[in-house]
Amino acid sequence: MSKATILIIEDNPLQAKQTRSVVESAGYEVLMAENGGTGFKLAKTQRIDLVLLDMVLPDFSGGQICQWLKRDEATHAIPVIMLTAKGSVEDKVAGLQIGADDYVPKPFSDKELLARIQACLRIKMREDELRGVKDQLENQLKDVEKMAITDAGTGLFNRRHFNELLDKEFSRAKRFNEPLSCLMLDIDHFKSINDTYGHPAGDSVLSEIALLLKGAVRMIEVAARYGGEEFVLLLPKTEPKEAVKPATRLLESISAHHFKGLPPDRVITVSIGIAGLPDPLMATKDDLVKCADFALYKAKHAGRNRIEMSDGAESEKRQV
Ligand code: GH3
Ligand code: MG
Ligand code: MG
Ligand code: MG
Repeated sequence: MSKATILIIEDNPLQAKQTRSVVESAGYEVLMAENGGTGFKLAKTQRIDLVLLDMVLPDFSGGQICQWLKRDEATHAIPVIMLTAKGSVEDKVAGLQIGADDYVPKPFSDKELLARIQACLRIKMREDELRGVKDQLENQLKDVEKMAITDAGTGLFNRRHFNELLDKEFSRAKRFNEPLSCLMLDIDHFKSINDTYGHPAGDSVLSEIALLLKGAVRMIEVAARYGGEEFVLLLPKTEPKEAVKPATRLLESISAHHFKGLPPDRVITVSIGIAGLPDPLMATKDDLVKCADFALYKAKHAGRNRIEMSDGAESEKRQV
C-alpha cells in the first residue's frame, strides 16, 4: 500500500517544521500550507489522506477551513485533526462540532499525535472500503433494475415494463382527458427471413429494427418489444390521426433500411395498427392494446407494408 499523504496547515514556521519532522519520521508523505486558503486548495486538488489543521491562521480560522473541508464534495471524507494552543473544553467541543475528527492541543507529545493520526487513518480506510462496497452494490442494483425492464435481444423495454408504463399513461390520459396513441408493429413475413438467412440473421434484423424505433421515438414516447417480432409504441398526448405521420415515417425508414447480413436488395417491411384515445368506449388499457392489435390484423389482411387505424372500441367489441 502506498504511504498516506498528510497535509499540514500551519503558519508558524517553527511549529510547521517540528510537526513535519514528526510526521515524516513516521513514514508519511507530507504537503505543507502556511495559510488556510492554500491549504484548502491543496486538499481539493491533491490526493490527501488526512489534514493537520492549526486553529489560528493568518487568513481564515482553522474552524472555517474545517467547515469548508467537511462541506465540500471533494474533501468531506478527509479526516481533519485540529492542532491548537488552546486546550479548553469549549474549544475542543467547538472544534469537534464543526466536524473535526479529532483534536490535539499544543504542545503535543509526538507519540500522541502519531497515535491519533493512525487511529483517524484506520477509520478512514474502513470508511473508504465501506463506501467502495456500497458503490459496488448500488451499481449492481442499477444493473439488475435495468435488466428487469429491458428485453435482452433488442435493448428495448420488455413487455412487462411496457404494461406498467401503459397502466400509468392510460390512467393519466383518462383522468386529464388527454389523447394517447398505441402503435402495434409486426414484421412482415419474418419467418421467411429466418428460413432463408438463418435465425442469427433474424435476430440481428430485430436488433436493427429496435434501433430504428429508438431513433424514432421522442423522450416521452415509449418503445417496447411486445413479443417475438412484434413491437409496440406508446405516444402520449397524441391523437391516433396525428400518430399516422410518425408511423408512416417508420414504415418508410424500415423499408428503405439496408440490414446488415442480408443481401442489399432484400427489403423488409412492417405492418402497423394504430388505436387511441379519445374514445369514450375504450374503458381499459387492455381495450387500447386489443384495438391496436385488431388494426394490425387489418393491415396484414389488406396486404401488409401498411398502416391501419382502429375504428374504435365499439367496432372492436363487435368483432369479438
Ligand atoms: P406475418 O407477415 O403474417 O407477420 O408473417 P410472419 O412470418 O412474420 O409471422 P409468423 O407469426 O408466421 O412468424 C413469426 C416468426 O418470428 C416465427 C418465429 O420463429 C420468429 N421469431 C420470433 N421471435 C424471434 C426471435 O427472437 N429471433 C428470431 N430470429 N426469430 C424470431
Ligand atoms: Mg497559527
Ligand atoms: Mg410477422
Ligand atoms: Mg407476429
